[in-house]
Amino acid sequence: MALQLVAVLAIIVVDNEIRVAHGLAVIIVGEDPASQVYVRNKKKDCDEVGFNSEVIALPENTEEKELLALIDTLNKREDIHGILVQLPLPKHINEDAVINTISPEKDVDAFHPENVGHIMIGDYTFLPCTPAGIMEMLKFYNISVAGKKCVVIGRSNIVGKPMALMLLEKNATVTIAHSRTKNLKELTKEADVVVVAIGKAKFVTEDMVKEGAVIVDVGINRIDGVLYGDVDFENVEKKASYITPVPGGVGPLTIAMLLLNTVTAFIEQNK
Ligand code: NAP
Repeated sequence: MALQLVAVLAIIVVDNEIRVAHGLAVIIVGEDPASQVYVRNKKKDCDEVGFNSEVIALPENTEEKELLALIDTLNKREDIHGILVQLPLPKHINEDAVINTISPEKDVDAFHPENVGHIMIGDYTFLPCTPAGIMEMLKFYNISVAGKKCVVIGRSNIVGKPMALMLLEKNATVTIAHSRTKNLKELTKEADVVVVAIGKAKFVTEDMVKEGAVIVDVGINRIDGVLYGDVDFENVEKKASYITPVPGGVGPLTIAMLLLNTVTAFIEQNK
């Protein structure tokens, strides 16, 4: 459904001309199997909605300066409206330097400090794809978070922190938990909404959630080739009013939001 929406948005009229040429460049460095799958899925969805997408695969031993030079070239290309560098990067490359080099108006992941600052003050062009997708999903199911107790487990710049901000913007009372949080169960048992993004298979168990809670599982954990979320789905499902599955759930929405951000970038750059 979300992809169909983006497909409609992918055709827009600029100066009385129909344009379908949204350009997204996805850079992947190295051979990380999970990253390869994510990039493949992004490419597939781009093709489905008619975007021009370019996957640039670089070897593991790519030097940081080569990658920065490539981003610089993409920043200048008029046919590329969005740039995404698949994380994590090999250890010898500084992720912050890479994120800071992407032009903020092409930063469709919304990780650039300039975009992060805009999000902090609630005046933004892009939102980070995973939490944005979760907010869309809550809206789709008419789940209001206003006045609700929401616990976000995980405080990464990619998921946990922006998720907490977005829930706060919608008037939730938000608690952020992390690896140093004491008595996590006491917090989650009180929560109307739990979002978990920590990368630990089946971490959230039935005894940690209250009856009727909304459970959003961001985690992707591959064990012996099988994907698991951060929630013990089979058991927590019995107590939750809503729960997202893994695979499915949050993952496909993340890509849909990436495509939506690319449409936004295209519109902004053609104003
Ligand atoms: P990350 O950067 O590794 O951060 C993990 C967070 O979890 C940290 O804040 C860490 O706390 C916290 N944590 C770890 N163990 C914990 C524990 N026992 N109790 C409470 N908190 C704990 O991870 P991320 O990039 O946010 O990703 C998290 C998961 O989501 C991963 O499985 C990733 O693959 C998945 N993911 C999925 C999507 C999607 O589209 N579905 C998108 C992005 C990420 P500290 O800060 O104290 O270390």
